[in-house]
Amino acid sequence: MIAVALLALVLGLAVGSFLNVVIHRLPRKESLVHPPSRCPGCEQPVRPYDNVPVLSWLVLRGRCRHCAEPISRRYPLVEALTGLLYAAVVLARWDEPVDVALGIALVTLLVPMTFIDLDTRTIPNVLLAPFAVLAPVIALALDPDLLPELLLSGAGAFAAFLLVALASPKGMGMGDVKLVGVLGLYLGRAVAPAIFAGLIAGVLVGAVIMGRLGAQAGRKVAVPFGPFLALGAVLALFVGEDLVDSYVDTF
Ligand SMILES: [Zn+2]
Repeated sequence: MIAVALLALVLGLAVGSFLNVVIHRLPRKESLVHPPSRCPGCEQPVRPYDNVPVLSWLVLRGRCRHCAEPISRRYPLVEALTGLLYAAVVLARWDEPVDVALGIALVTLLVPMTFIDLDTRTIPNVLLAPFAVLAPVIALALDPDLLPELLLSGAGAFAAFLLVALASPKGMGMGDVKLVGVLGLYLGRAVAPAIFAGLIAGVLVGAVIMGRLGAQAGRKVAVPFGPFLALGAVLALFVGEDLVDSYVDTF
């Protein structure tokens, strides 16, 4: 299991490197494969040995080898985050292969979604759509019995948020509505604690911003909801089933 988790870590670091490209280029509608990465300062192509996840950034001390232009901390952060979450999914869901596959796929969606939503306040359909298709495909391949729960949870979460969005169009964007639908496809009934945790985190951060800026100015700061939903989803990935079970046992 440790060996597989290490393998997942390395795979996650490499995938994270590609997710950096997705985060940067997808909102600009640029090709994800062409041209190869270049330094934005001196336009020099990034050499393969300068493109090793996390390590290259550390060796180069966060600067371009040629022109010493600073390289954002976000690059190694995204790589490390993806690698660590991949490994954590393997360790936490080891006994259920379908959960490992769904968890890895979900992390691969949530990492770029979070940063794109922070950057642009939108969650692109072109990112959500393939992952909406992938979840049922994984379930069909590894555990078809799981499919009805996933589809019901996705539809239920989508419908609930659609009602909220229609009732208060300013508070909730359609991107969030589609996102919770996709979360349901991956988390099943654990999507409920995921949304709950995301709402709590969002309200807390909103309260902190209001406290700092005052209610009037704070209300004008648009805080994207996607990253909070991602946080809730990651929590649900690791403890969601236990939460649902203890809730069901209690009542
Ligand atoms: Zn450069």
